[in-house]
Amino acid sequence: MRTIGLIGGMSWESSAEYYRIVNQGVRSRLGPLRSAQLLMYSVDFGPVERAQHEGRWDDAAMILEDAARRLHAGGAECIVLCTNTMHLLADRVQAATPLPFLHIADPVGRAARQAGALTVGLLGTAFTMEQDFLKARLSGQHGLQVLVPSADERQAVHKIIYEELCVGIVSDASRDIYLRVTESLAARGAQAVILGCTEITLLIKQEDTMLPLLDTTELHAQAAVEFALASEL
Ligand code: GLU
Repeated sequence: MRTIGLIGGMSWESSAEYYRIVNQGVRSRLGPLRSAQLLMYSVDFGPVERAQHEGRWDDAAMILEDAARRLHAGGAECIVLCTNTMHLLADRVQAATPLPFLHIADPVGRAARQAGALTVGLLGTAFTMEQDFLKARLSGQHGLQVLVPSADERQAVHKIIYEELCVGIVSDASRDIYLRVTESLAARGAQAVILGCTEITLLIKQEDTMLPLLDTTELHAQAAVEFALASEL
């Protein structure tokens, strides 16, 4: 089994999900007492979040590059950056070590195609919904058309991520808002909706909607399992 390197802490609420999913994935493939060989370097989200909102992306990149190097030094054999938003800095993180970088958009793009969805909605932070780093990879490498919510909806979705989900608050009122936004994306032609922030999995589940959901946390963690077990399958 290869050793997975996770850059976590953004937020730790979602890193805990990665840890659970990766271990469950290894157990279900290899047997009840088997578990993932992994390292997680979990950053303090406070300075990262401040850097994001102040547009100091170089400062944020230095924190993530340092995390990647520490994982490499510790014996990790791949880098998994456990946040969609910070894939804005994917090139910097990838260049920090010679290790394979498992980009979050790739398993998501493949899952969309497998589900037969060519037009997908995208929920995430304002950075993820409004900038091109994830959307361009989903369209350029996976042939998807990506729809984002209206400006008002984006603001509500973003606020709930930072003020609630990243601090461990999961509320019915916010779930209703997310489901309404999901329905309006479907009405505009989305055949599936990407939960493009790694905490959204804590708020809405597939059983809450008929529309197929593409959960980046689940898909990215499963891609890490595939990588770890590639030589054993
Ligand atoms: N975990 C979130 C994401 O997947 C947001 C937190 C962050 O800004 O990294 O985008």
